[in-house]
Amino acid sequence: MKTIFEKSSGADGINLTDEGVNTGKYIPEKFLRNGEVSLPQMSELEVMRHYKEMSDMNFCIEKGFYPLGSCTMKYNPKVNEFLAGLEGFNIHPNCGDDLAQGSLKLMYNLQKALLEVTGMDAITLQPSAGAHGEMTGMMIIKKYFDTIGEKRTKVIIPDSAHGTNPASAKMSGFEIVEIKSNSKGQVDIEALKSVLDKDVAAIMMTNPNTLGIFEEGVKEISDLMHANGSLLYYDGANFNAIMGWTNPKLMGFDVVHLNLHKTFSTPHGGGGPGAGPVAVVEKLKDFLPTPVVEFDGEKYYRNYNIPHSIGSVKDFWGNFSVLVKAYAYILMMGKNLKTVSENAVLNANYLKEKLKNYYDLPYDEPCMHEFVLSGEKQKHENGVSTLHIAKALMDGNTHPPTVYFPLIVHEALMIEPTESEDKQKLDEFVQTMIEIAKEAETNPEKLLSAPHTTPVKKIDEVTAARHPDLKYTD
Ligand SMILES: *Cc1c(COP(=O)(O)O)cnc(C)c1O
Repeated sequence: MKTIFEKSSGADGINLTDEGVNTGKYIPEKFLRNGEVSLPQMSELEVMRHYKEMSDMNFCIEKGFYPLGSCTMKYNPKVNEFLAGLEGFNIHPNCGDDLAQGSLKLMYNLQKALLEVTGMDAITLQPSAGAHGEMTGMMIIKKYFDTIGEKRTKVIIPDSAHGTNPASAKMSGFEIVEIKSNSKGQVDIEALKSVLDKDVAAIMMTNPNTLGIFEEGVKEISDLMHANGSLLYYDGANFNAIMGWTNPKLMGFDVVHLNLHKTFSTPHGGGGPGAGPVAVVEKLKDFLPTPVVEFDGEKYYRNYNIPHSIGSVKDFWGNFSVLVKAYAYILMMGKNLKTVSENAVLNANYLKEKLKNYYDLPYDEPCMHEFVLSGEKQKHENGVSTLHIAKALMDGNTHPPTVYFPLIVHEALMIEPTESEDKQKLDEFVQTMIEIAKEAETNPEKLLSAPHTTPVKKIDEVTAARHPDLKYTD
């Protein structure tokens, strides 16, 4: 027998230097390489250092404040990542229901919990993002009208809406009718009445809207829509504004999507994975995508037999690990889910009050989870635009807020502190923002050339947009 010093490295049996591999025993000869591949040679340690350095160059919630409005970049308990990775949840996509009772039970219980927070009657966990949920919801609405034999072609969307709303409605085959907001930043009900006719299938609303303002007229709007035979879609991406205090059902909505990757413990940003469950009222239940997880008193099972289903919108189990994190978060928080919303709203109002003497606040209303400032004053008086303010914030170890959105506010700075920041961090941010406002008056050049401390300094945005260089070079 060979000693360990005589054996070739790698797993016993199949080994690249073994005769079997090279002679085409395992891989047909025509697919075999006939020379060395030229790969960069580097030690494992160097590779690890490279990736660590890249990761250090990135900004993330673990490094600093991330008030990215409408995106809810909050702290998500790390323990939930561990739970999502538990071996028992790691099942084959084609696993039958009998062998997946635990996973199905989790999905069933999560469905129930989300129905409770939204007030709705039936739900699908399938969609894998907010926008995907919107499209699922709009397809449900379309199929509903087709089934009852009404031809309704239009969807009304307020001008403050998230860009995905009109995109999803359009992709589902509707024509978009935009309506203006009034001087309080809310849906203008007269404008709504003027476009409401029998062609209108639905209105898509976000409440609180993207200005962070609660739509006071929401009940009147839902009554108007329903009297017209139309439905109401609720964009619940930022659900941490209202959790436990009110719900879309009470406001009169018929369809709602949630972003589990904003409100319910999956880190957001970086492109996924996410989950955008869609919940509906009783009369839309039969249009949900399949499968829906059900319980027959003994067993949990996936029900594919939904009479008017729009069909599946995602393969297999949806983004299952995201569902595990959401369920763990809900159990962990319990009645503190209400406190989440309370703190999200308190934090946003605190920042708004502290900053409104330094920046324009176009809609000076009590806000919900976020608020929108404007850099107009700095732009006109000092030549410092919102983009410069955003870049300067990066020097203050802060991720810039969402900028230039919503479109109805010029030079918009949309700030969402989230529930998970403490007062000290909020005060530091206020201080940084005040310093930037003062610097705009006294030393605008410094802001115009920001950022100064980031790995990549100020970039030439115009050239980058006109002549993008997308090649990899070393
Ligand atoms: C984030 C967001 C969406 C879209 O969610 P994705 O998961 O990014 O597709 C839709 N509406 C609002 C208000 C949002 O904040």
